[in-house]
Amino acid sequence: MLIGLTGGIGSGKTTIANALRERGYEVYDTDSAAKRLVMTSPVRQAIENLLGEDVYDGDRYISSKVAQRVFANAGLLQQLNDIIHPVVRQDLKQTAQEHNKGLLFVESAILYESGFDLECDYIIAVIAPKPLRIARTMARDNKTEEQVKSRIKAQMSNCQLRHRADYVVENNGKMTVTQLVDKLMRHLRKKNFITQ
Ligand code: ATP
Repeated sequence: MLIGLTGGIGSGKTTIANALRERGYEVYDTDSAAKRLVMTSPVRQAIENLLGEDVYDGDRYISSKVAQRVFANAGLLQQLNDIIHPVVRQDLKQTAQEHNKGLLFVESAILYESGFDLECDYIIAVIAPKPLRIARTMARDNKTEEQVKSRIKAQMSNCQLRHRADYVVENNGKMTVTQLVDKLMRHLRKKNFITQ
């Protein structure tokens, strides 16, 4: 069974995903998968054709260069996504088939935008208030408030995420991560998604 784990920048997806890993659950991270898959030859070829060979330096994918090229060019970004997302989705499908034991969580900031949600049986949104997300991201990434705000603007809103999710983890500082994950586990047990 595939359970999507999504949320905007700084909401706490990775924090919750890591807590799930600590409890023995497997988490497929679509971002790491994309980073791995852009190095495989057909994908690399397609990206080089689209953006130029110099977005790779030997065995390195220079994501800052890619970001520069697609920044402010929605068409190019769409074409890049059309190369990467289907490959990640296929890889996720294969991982899910091989997994075949209990739950597999799928962490993705772009779960809906990429179509990965269509592979999921159940979706969890990690939601935190905007000021907290800004403060946490600024502390984590050394970004300015404006940079974080513009990222937030480009993503789905908390309201949209809340509306589309089957379950919401309220990562607003009122409960510890352990308490949030305990509560999530109780919910998943109630749904009979897990037994222990
Ligand atoms: P992104 O989409 O940007 O990768 P994310 O949703 O994965 O963000 P995290 O990296 O999990 O978010 O969290 C953002 C920052 O906030 C991290 O530095 C993390 O340690 C911190 N953080 C998240 N949740 C909590 C919490 N409940 N208490 C304290 N710090 C937290």
